[in-house]
Amino acid sequence: MPKYGNIKNIVGIISGKGGVGKSTVTGIIATHLRKKGYKVGVLDADITGPSMPRFFGINEKRAQMIPIDDKNNFKFIPVETEMGIKVISMNLLTAEEAQPVIWRGPVVTGVLNQMYTDTVWDELDYLLIDMPPGTGDIALTVMQSFPIDEIVVVSTPQDMVSMIVKKVVIMAEKVGVPIRGVVENMAYIECDGCGTKMRVFSKKSAEEHADYLGLPLICELPINVDLTEALEEGKAESYVAENALYDMMFSSLY
Ligand code: ADP
Repeated sequence: MPKYGNIKNIVGIISGKGGVGKSTVTGIIATHLRKKGYKVGVLDADITGPSMPRFFGINEKRAQMIPIDDKNNFKFIPVETEMGIKVISMNLLTAEEAQPVIWRGPVVTGVLNQMYTDTVWDELDYLLIDMPPGTGDIALTVMQSFPIDEIVVVSTPQDMVSMIVKKVVIMAEKVGVPIRGVVENMAYIECDGCGTKMRVFSKKSAEEHADYLGLPLICELPINVDLTEALEEGKAESYVAENALYDMMFSSLY
């Protein structure tokens, strides 16, 4: 698929399995890029667990669907976050947020293609794709058919040395998409009182984990309960934008 419209860079965010913080990291990178002044879009392709609208606190909103002919073809107008990030997600298109997607793989990938090509993105410096987790057929099809420039891998310490992450890394390599590096999420907890970093899941360092995967380490992120709370309140975007840690962590990336 050729690059669509005026999108300069497409970055896929992947993980070996769900629940490791892939969507959270996608939201953090999007916010970081937007804060730097870039035009940013987010395509939530994690169709069974679409959580990007919650990160940005826009889950109550709905993307507009504008008919372009009388054959049920539409253009989607993405929902804009407070900072002006354009987001499209299955959860912004279904009538209700909790409505499950009960389609089979080929239908899902068809809809994802539509969400990419039929969304009015206008001009974007970066389109971040929150990819379906793992190496299933949907993840593979998205990786093969979307014109992704590079991939960022998200993992947790306990998964870094498992074969689950290794598998997605090998899948990306086989498909020929360059991997920029790995983000170790939930790497440590920082003690409120003394500032000591406690690595609760693994005695090995993030560097050692990244070495095992043969990837550059982008950064390690702490377990941060304030971030969890901001996520629950739909205020993660402003929390991340105001927290210098996240700019520091991703400054080497973009
Ligand atoms: P995935 O997209 O990999 O399924 P999510 O980004 O949805 O994972 O994160 C899973 C859960 O973990 C969410 O409830 C999120 O709030 C929480 N979470 C993720 N990263 C962190 C972190 N660094 N600190 C605290 N909570 C986190």
